Parts: sequence; C-alpha cells; structure tokens
Amino acid sequence: MALIVHKYGGTSMGSVERISNVAKRVAKWARAGHKMVVVPSAMSGETNRLLGLANELTPEVPNERVLREMDAIAATGEQVSVGLLSLALQAEGMDAVSYAGWQVPVYTDNAYTKARILSIDGTKVLKDLDAGRVVIITGFQGIDPQGNVTTLGRGGSDTSAVAVAAALKADECLIFTDVDGIYTTDPRIVPEARRLNSISFEEILEMASLGSKVLQIRSVEFAGKYHVPTRVLSSFTPWDIDINEEANSGTLITFEEDENMMEQAVISGIAFSRNEAKVSVLGVPDKPGIAYQILGAVAAANIEVDVIIQNTSKEGFTDFSFTVQRGDYAHTMEVLKDQVVPHLGQGVSLEGDTKICKVSIVGIGMRSHVGVASDMFRALSEEGINIQMISTSEIKTSVVLDEKYMELAVRALHKAFNLEEVKK
Ligand code: ASP
Ligand code: MG
Repeated sequence: MALIVHKYGGTSMGSVERISNVAKRVAKWARAGHKMVVVPSAMSGETNRLLGLANELTPEVPNERVLREMDAIAATGEQVSVGLLSLALQAEGMDAVSYAGWQVPVYTDNAYTKARILSIDGTKVLKDLDAGRVVIITGFQGIDPQGNVTTLGRGGSDTSAVAVAAALKADECLIFTDVDGIYTTDPRIVPEARRLNSISFEEILEMASLGSKVLQIRSVEFAGKYHVPTRVLSSFTPWDIDINEEANSGTLITFEEDENMMEQAVISGIAFSRNEAKVSVLGVPDKPGIAYQILGAVAAANIEVDVIIQNTSKEGFTDFSFTVQRGDYAHTMEVLKDQVVPHLGQGVSLEGDTKICKVSIVGIGMRSHVGVASDMFRALSEEGINIQMISTSEIKTSVVLDEKYMELAVRALHKAFNLEEVKK
C-alpha cells in the first residue's frame, strides 16, 4: 500500500464522460489498496475561456488589483473539475472529497498569475486518507498570506501535484498527460526518437525546450528539491489497463543517488531552440571592465543573455559576442547602440544575426566521460555544419549554428550518440 498522487490534465478532464473515466482509473488504484490524492486541471479550454472573459474588461497594463481578480476568475476552472471528479468517484461507490487550494490550504506568495507555493498543510488531507477517502485537490491555485486566491501560472497544475506529493511525502506522483513520456528528442524531427524509461531531473531542466512541452518546468524544480518520484505517463490508455503495467509505464524522473541511475547512458537527449539571436560587439578595447560595460547594460534592461564568447585580442582589441532570445534582439541592439557603443571608443561596431539556433546534447553521464564534446563536434563536421559558438556545463554542451542546419544537426547527433537504441 502506498500514498499516490495522480495529476490529470485538461484533456483528461475534458467532458463529464472523460471525468468518469478518470474516476474509474483512480478507483482502480484505490481498490488496489493505495491512498489516493488526485490533482486535476480545469476542463480543456476552460482557463482560456475564463481569461478571455476577464481580458475583455482589463486595461492593457493590468495593475495588482486587476491581476487579483484575474486569479479569482481563472481559479474557478479547477474548482469545477474537482467537484465533478468527486461526484464521479462517488458514483463509482468511492468515498471522495474535493478541496479548493484555500481549503487545504496551499499557501503561496502574492505574485498574482505566477504565484509560488510556499507551503502546504497536509493535516486535513492525511486525516481524510486515513478515513479511507479519495482526496481531490484543485491544481493551479493557492491562497496568499492575506487570504487572496492566487494562481501559479499556465500549466501550474503539474507544480500543484508535485508540491502536494512532496507535502504528503507521497510514494509517487503520476502525471497523466497526452504524451506517453519524455523522448530523446522531438519525434517530429527524428522519427527514431525513443521514449526514456527514466531521466534525471537535472537533465529535464537542461532539456527544458523538450521537457517543458510536457511539464511545467517549475514542477521539475520542485521534484528535484524535495525528491518526489515523479512519473510522466499517457492518459490515453484504457482506464482498466493492468495496474502494474501502468505503474511502470511512461518516464520516471530520477535523482542521481538512485540506484537505477548507474546504467545511465552518456547522453540522454538532444534539445534545440530556434528562439535565438546573436549579437556581436566588434573591435572593443581589451581591458578590464568591458564585459561588464556591455553585459551590465543588457542585464539592466532585463534581457537574459545565454551563450557568451570573447575572442583573444589582437593588438589590444577584441570581439565580444553573445546570444539572447529572438524576441529580445531588437531591444538588445537598441540598448547597445544608445548606451554602450558610444562609450567604448572609436572603431567599435555592432553586428547581429537572428537566423541562428542552439542545439544541445544533455546527459549526466558527461560528468564521468571525457571526449563527449569532441564526438559532438566530429558529428557536426561530418555533415559540414559550421559551429559559431560553443558553451558547456557539467551535463550539457551547446552549439550555436546557422538556423538552416538545425534539423540536420539534431538528426546527426541523435545518430552519432546511438540514441535510437533501447538501453537496458
Ligand atoms: N488550467 C491551468 C491552465 O490551463 C493550469 C493547468 O492546466 O495546468 O494553464
Ligand atoms: Mg499541462
């Protein structure tokens, strides 16, 4: 017998009929002897509908009081779904009770529309579980220290579920979703991409461009911080699928000290992003304070910088390049032109390129294997792909390339690291 949290997304909660199926699946787990907590999203499309209504009445730049009401409105979507799911479970003959965030309570800060969970009081829920009840808790919402309803940002029910699992010290948190797990890369680009049986939470964070399509990334941070065993699995299987088969399906998020990490491949996956732009400041004097002068101004404008390189200097001058998100490109150029270049002296010029991409290989196995980066560079050179920038961390190597090579690079790397092969 275990304490299990199930999370169901909007698609699974999309109609009364689907909610009945969720209830049947949950009842199957409860009848197998598990203590069950369920965290559902709003019915699909509902949060959009609610925010759409609110937007008709909000000014372009919403102030705090507007955001407060938007959260009060958006949170109702989940309130409907927990009530319906509780009714569906009762119709299955189960004892079930639903709670809104404030009833648990799930405490958050007061950053409306993107609140962070501070703590969850599990006392009441644990009592219900001991009394044999299935407990259903709203995803996406909480209550701030002043008693206002808050929401956690779009996709926030994932984070609610993992946070509830952490607070209750659940044995596992199962995230039922419309994909059957996390893949080595996007199967739309590499049809041979393979579902991973397990992946470490650090790797998912690094592969945010892949993982975040499946999970709200904050939920992964939560799982990592509190060591919540979290599994991503398909909600499209029939509800009466064998429970043991179901319990071992999908992708399990693991932690490095887990035993089953020993077999980890060197590379777990390949992430990529087209949402990149490159900026170069050419001919800057090679002296102390220059990087700060350039990047300080960019940071002050709230622009996030990713890959940075500075060339060795020639005759006291050097070139300095970095990447930003594509949407920040124009703003970055403006800041540099107005605030930085005029102070750097004669002969300094700006260059930019918005047709670049970033491709990364990710794997905690890289820590203990040398030469992984050079394998990556060889695979790219064999395809004649020029690398413009390189950045490395302990478990990731990223290259910046001409955007037109992105898919070719991802495919070549997937092959070079044998990611299509099933690992035991
Ligand atoms: N209902 C919320 C949304 O649509 C939260 C969630 O589904 O995770 O963003
Ligand atoms: Mg989601």
